[in-house]
Amino acid sequence: MDLYEHQARDLFAEYGIAVPEAETVEFAREAALAAERLGGRVVVKAQVKTGGRGKAGGVKLAADPAAAELTARQILGMDIKGHTVRTVMLAQPVDIETEFYVSYVLDRAAGTFLAIASAEGGMDIEEVAATRPEAVARIPIDPAEGVTAAKAVEIAVAAQLPPETAPVLESLWQVLIREDALLVEVNPLVRTTDGRILALDGKVTLDDNAQFRQSRWGDEQQDPGADPLEAAAAAKGLNYVKLDGEVGIIGNGAGLVMSTLDVVAGCGARPANFLDIGGGASAQVMADGLSVILSDPDVKSVFVNVFGGITACDAVADGIVQALETVRLTKPLVVRLDGNNAARGRAILADRAHPLVEQVTTMDGAARQSAVLANAG
Ligand code: GDP
Ligand code: MN
Repeated sequence: MDLYEHQARDLFAEYGIAVPEAETVEFAREAALAAERLGGRVVVKAQVKTGGRGKAGGVKLAADPAAAELTARQILGMDIKGHTVRTVMLAQPVDIETEFYVSYVLDRAAGTFLAIASAEGGMDIEEVAATRPEAVARIPIDPAEGVTAAKAVEIAVAAQLPPETAPVLESLWQVLIREDALLVEVNPLVRTTDGRILALDGKVTLDDNAQFRQSRWGDEQQDPGADPLEAAAAAKGLNYVKLDGEVGIIGNGAGLVMSTLDVVAGCGARPANFLDIGGGASAQVMADGLSVILSDPDVKSVFVNVFGGITACDAVADGIVQALETVRLTKPLVVRLDGNNAARGRAILADRAHPLVEQVTTMDGAARQSAVLANAG
């Protein structure tokens, strides 16, 4: 999960990294007062979970509170790379002498962390990295040792950053480790004309696998930018992904679900979404999964493709039967059960004899049937 800039900024401040004074508002009419409290002149910044806001017109200087309100009005509602701006941050402007780039990122291939830093930070860092890679230092960090004072100096020297940035490099590492982040990035980290080192922008990507021990971000799961059904599924702990076809797909296990998408596409229909119910296809999971899939108005038919392993097919069939008690089936459901206890599972569904539930024993056959039903619906 990515944090918004204002959240990253608050975190940095908590870890002792200097940041400009700032306030975040949702409505333009709140911007004037906020600007007033911040001293009048402010930078108005779109809060979206994507980079390149500056180049997209999402970062603007306002000379006084009235201008701040006008600028906030312009920026709120703006679309930046597919992200709608719902909040803006107002920050005290600073006089920049130099812009630096610093980040720590998990390097999965190398199995370590990487410090990436450059004395030529700012909005053109991608271009600097592409045209003059030597201007961007890349230093592996042993995760067991982390960024010690000595390591911070090493990074600063390698990237030709001034020595005053070293303490920031140390604190930023603490953000990464203690917050369970996969990425922390400050671009720009600036030296002001009066010699202070400030983080002017921040990007933090948290490791979702660590969410259980990072309780303060719980509410963030309900990202208003996300698809509402994806949010509803996530709230129920389901892995649901929205696509743009017409066949709803439920399967157990990522590999089976992925190949189900391919087979359905091969039968001349397009997947509307997919949901991986994983290993424990309990009645509750089935009911939750079906209700999410059926809430998608694009769905014309549903294909439940289960290969019983640890979870036996009769348990899955029981789950479907119980789900039919609580979820009103409105679209045809094609079920293919195979693997562990397939015969028992098929018998359970046959006994239930729901008029909209049809069983097909092979994956190809079931995919073809759900495609036919989707194209007919
Ligand atoms: P991004 O485009 O999404 O990375 O947004 P940033 O927050 O990094 O802002 C883009 C650029 O705006 C920065 O690289 C700075 O050059 C400039 N900027 C942001 N805040 C200030 C400020 O307080 N004073 C000045 N002079 N420039 C700023
Ligand atoms: Mn930036």
